[in-house]
Amino acid sequence: MISVEEAQEAILSRIQPLGRTRVPIVEALGRVLAEDVRSPRDIPPWPNSAMDGYAVRAQDVAQASKERPATLRVVEEVRAGFEAKRALGPGEAIRIMTGAPIPRGADAVVLVEETEKAGRDEVRIFLAVPPGEAVRAAGEDVREGATVFSAGVRLNAAAVGMLANLGRPTVHVYQKPRVAILSTGDELLDLGETPKAGQIFNSNSYALAAQVIEAGGDPVPLGIARDNAEDLERHLREGLSADLVVTSGGVSVGDFDLVKGILGGLGSEMHFWRVRMKPGKPMAFGTLQGKPVFGLPGNPVSTMVSFELFVRPSLLKMQGWSRLFRSRVEARLLHPMRKSPERRHYVRSVAARREEEWTVQAVEAQGSNILHSMVRANALVVFPEFETKLEAGAKVQALLLEEGSALAAAPEQVTGAGALVSAR
Ligand code: AMP
Ligand code: MG
Repeated sequence: MISVEEAQEAILSRIQPLGRTRVPIVEALGRVLAEDVRSPRDIPPWPNSAMDGYAVRAQDVAQASKERPATLRVVEEVRAGFEAKRALGPGEAIRIMTGAPIPRGADAVVLVEETEKAGRDEVRIFLAVPPGEAVRAAGEDVREGATVFSAGVRLNAAAVGMLANLGRPTVHVYQKPRVAILSTGDELLDLGETPKAGQIFNSNSYALAAQVIEAGGDPVPLGIARDNAEDLERHLREGLSADLVVTSGGVSVGDFDLVKGILGGLGSEMHFWRVRMKPGKPMAFGTLQGKPVFGLPGNPVSTMVSFELFVRPSLLKMQGWSRLFRSRVEARLLHPMRKSPERRHYVRSVAARREEEWTVQAVEAQGSNILHSMVRANALVVFPEFETKLEAGAKVQALLLEEGSALAAAPEQVTGAGALVSAR
């Protein structure tokens, strides 16, 4: 059996980023940029007013105060989207709105609240302002020619806004991996059908599709293959139009030969593992006609945890991410845990941050078929291979599954947690 790290290394060394594709900027949200983006012009493109008020020459209002206002002649009005027709001369003011270009000759804006209209075309200014007051300088946000984004960054919502700001309707990002998802098992039933004795709903295909979407990929559902060579082979062949194939079930000891035989028959290079972990020890990985194929175990929690540790990093690498793994935090364990040696356990847990410290508490039931434990968990505590005991208060490593919600979650929400927790 190899370790999780050895398995990850063996997988990731065989995964390469996909090609680039050009997409409308909103579709680039959350994706990795595959080009350098430079600004074709200054932003803002010209000096403009930060406020509604009067554009003035600062020297004309240098002595102005509440008691002794400066009186200026209002010669024009300029709104956002237009330019003043004339330059400002001594003793003159131009009424100006937020975002309108500063007229030639003006060097400051006085807020409208500091002024009062006088007669038909005069204004009293009650405040002395320095040059530059309420003026947004050309290029103060972005300079013409500057590299605004370098290839390799992930675009957030503000980045999408910035691309629009630069006038870019589309941008190059890495392609989304298309992930073929195949469930195997004679007992499996599609949603919408009525279960007969011995049948259960196919949940893995749906959990995996959701995990694929969360990891930025596009799921390609292949349905259910029955436990016989013909059906499995037919479905696997269909999967080869995708960028990556994930199957669940049929890799435990008895079934393995079936899957191995078919993959081998199709010309796959197989690297089979039993990985030193729990849940999810049996797992197959191969390359079939250049496409990575993951044979994940069938128990729903094992499927999801194996996806998390092996498939997700692969999908991120295909999309050009540089950070492939979840955040790890050191956390204080709130109760003791026991296990047998040799395999590393990934214990479904709730992590919470309290002031400077993370605490972590296992959710109650840890069987690899207990999907509700996965529903509750926001973290996987790493219980190292050769350890058998962790005491309450021990410092442990926890992988944060949902980085946002982990911050908000409180351990009290997990009823009964900590009661048990021999993570066998
Ligand atoms: P297997 O690895 O095929 O022996 O499956 C292990 C366990 O996971 C069995 O209890 C299966 O019924 C269950 N299982 C396998 N595939 C699925 C699936 N797609 N959805 C739900 N449970 C499954
Ligand atoms: Mg099966």
